[in-house]
Amino acid sequence: MKKILLLLLLCLSVLAFSDAGIRLSGNRLKQGGFFYVEYPAEKDCEVIFSRGPKSPRAYKRGDKKYVFIPVHYSTPAGTYPLSVREEGRTVFSDAIVVEDGNFKKSYLTVTKTMAEKRSDKNLQAGTDKIAEAKKNSLKEKQWSGKFLNPTGIKSSDNFGSMRFVNKKVVGYHSGLDYPVPKGSTLKAANNGKVIFAQKLTTTGNTLVIDHGMNIFSSYSHLSAFAVQEGQMVKKGDVIGKSGDTGFVTGPHLHFVISIGSTAVNPSLFLNAAVLENE
Ligand SMILES: [Zn+2]
Repeated sequence: MKKILLLLLLCLSVLAFSDAGIRLSGNRLKQGGFFYVEYPAEKDCEVIFSRGPKSPRAYKRGDKKYVFIPVHYSTPAGTYPLSVREEGRTVFSDAIVVEDGNFKKSYLTVTKTMAEKRSDKNLQAGTDKIAEAKKNSLKEKQWSGKFLNPTGIKSSDNFGSMRFVNKKVVGYHSGLDYPVPKGSTLKAANNGKVIFAQKLTTTGNTLVIDHGMNIFSSYSHLSAFAVQEGQMVKKGDVIGKSGDTGFVTGPHLHFVISIGSTAVNPSLFLNAAVLENE
């Protein structure tokens, strides 16, 4: 009898412990979506999710820590396990359901010279430069409220669409395209620090803003920059002019929101105030 009681007590204490302040923002999302894990700031937890980044960073905010987990748009729909460990012990687990994003397909026909601009080599060179700039995201949340549409016009709603260039699948579209004419004013989607403002072969003149806590927005194919690397900007500040630099079929703004190096659906930040009103 004593043994059973002891066992029962042990079970109860484990349950109470695993429930101690660890929370998910949600466990059902679409491809290209994200969720975050929240736990008390005094804890040091490890979040393990096979479909997310290897060692996702935790950011302290008030008396909590937050770990944002992006789910890449190419992740097959399905159910994947998530666990949170503390001192090597699993203290929380759940199943994350990733649903089909129902992405569109898009077909582009371009010249050989244009196609070369998005060769694997050129694409990788740009990715590496931006990854370097993103290394030390500001620890404090800089953004406030919903993110702003940088152009004021409707996007082509083409996040995640499968891209065929000259009939060959080349990947998926990582952001939203806004078909603005060359020279249109572009605004910062939210508060943050300009960490990158350089010309790249594939994405042309590219600007990246760090919004803190590993959240970034990026703006590509610009004709001109109005801000410099290192500069702090406020939501709505003019950051440059749209254009047609890099790999394009015409002038437009290519707008990406990413968590670390993984692009997520920008509408999740444009339509909701993340980490607010809770
Ligand atoms: Zn685009």
